[in-house]
Amino acid sequence: MPDYVISPPPVVTLPIDGSDAVFPVRRVYCIGRNYAAHAIEMGHDPNREPPFFFQKNPNNLTTGESFRYPDQTSDVHHEVELIVALKSGGTNIPVDQALDHVWGYAVGLDMTRRDLQSTAKEMGRPWEIGKAFEESAPMGPLRAVADVGHPAAGLVQLTVNGVVKQTGDLNQMIWKVPEMIAYLSDYFELAAGDVIMTGTPAGVGPVVRGDVMVCHVAGVGDLTVTVV
Ligand code: MN
Repeated sequence: MPDYVISPPPVVTLPIDGSDAVFPVRRVYCIGRNYAAHAIEMGHDPNREPPFFFQKNPNNLTTGESFRYPDQTSDVHHEVELIVALKSGGTNIPVDQALDHVWGYAVGLDMTRRDLQSTAKEMGRPWEIGKAFEESAPMGPLRAVADVGHPAAGLVQLTVNGVVKQTGDLNQMIWKVPEMIAYLSDYFELAAGDVIMTGTPAGVGPVVRGDVMVCHVAGVGDLTVTVV
């Protein structure tokens, strides 16, 4: 072991459903505007333009039951998403081989400081300030492909305090999971431990302290997170 001059940062991990083993996270890629109805609600053309991605930091992930309302914002939005976890990677991965690299799936949230993101968009600035903050990616346990296959259709839903806010279907994704993996691998070297957040259906909106968000992705599971 090297003689570290400071304590090395901990490896970020995701729990695995029904197992004591954990999944170590390397990078977190997030796609923008991947459901047409959400692109429209954000004021964009839903036609199939090339996908675009931003990143969160691995240690923005949390697996707790609470989400700490962040500073410097008064408009934090929920975005329920299917999460993809890779067991291998590479470059220039063909679409028809992309799913071979998937270890499993989870339900997650791309929590967003929408006011800060909107300002960044207006000023042509990067999105990190709106997207890559502490606890901005609550995630449920991973489920292995061996158990759940490759979910490509089915309900994606989020309720806040029992009221349905977001509803969509995995089959409404503009860019499908294999296409996202292939596209990312043309620009980055993907590797085991990479996580992809696959975009959110329509209905994003603000939360306040005390709200209880219940996320559901058909075939993958549920995630309940309280805003504190
Ligand atoms: Mn998102």
